[in-house]
Amino acid sequence: MWARRNDKLLRDGERLKRRVVRLGSLSGDKWRQIAVLYRVADKYGVGVYPHTYCHGMAGDTGCVTGVCCACKPDVFAWEQELLDRLPKRLANAGEFCPFFNRTKKNCGIYAVRPFACRVYYNVARSRLSCRNPAEETLQLFDSLKRHLEEILGSYQGGYIPKQ
Ligand code: SF4
Ligand code: SF4
Repeated sequence: MWARRNDKLLRDGERLKRRVVRLGSLSGDKWRQIAVLYRVADKYGVGVYPHTYCHGMAGDTGCVTGVCCACKPDVFAWEQELLDRLPKRLANAGEFCPFFNRTKKNCGIYAVRPFACRVYYNVARSRLSCRNPAEETLQLFDSLKRHLEEILGSYQGGYIPKQ
């Protein structure tokens, strides 16, 4: 069962990569291209979510522990530019992402959250990988990075608000 689940995650990851590569080769309005990219990422999420630890934690209502948002989300140049325009939650400094809603325990910018957040799931068997991404997650993101740069601009690392 675990092997079948891993095959499914691999297949979905490969499909995601093919779609990102195809999208990167298209020209046109940048924000429209990014909107399509985000839809592609969300579609990937719908497919893999039932097979992740996240689903096991919270069923269809979604996880509200916020552990994976105790971070600086990975961003690319265009995402950095967008996030810099949004209001930040200063009380989160040093503990949670500046967009994490600590009261509701969810993402305060869900509709425009970065690509990395859209494809981030705990695909391991333990909660330890909520905070420390599993190897499969790191590999998927690494394999996508240069293709994502075609669409989102250069990789910036963990988001740090511009002063
Ligand atoms: S990675 Fe962990 S903290 Fe984040 S949504 Fe999944 S189960 Fe919840
Ligand atoms: S942008 Fe949203 S989903 Fe991503 S780390 Fe921040 S609060 Fe979490």
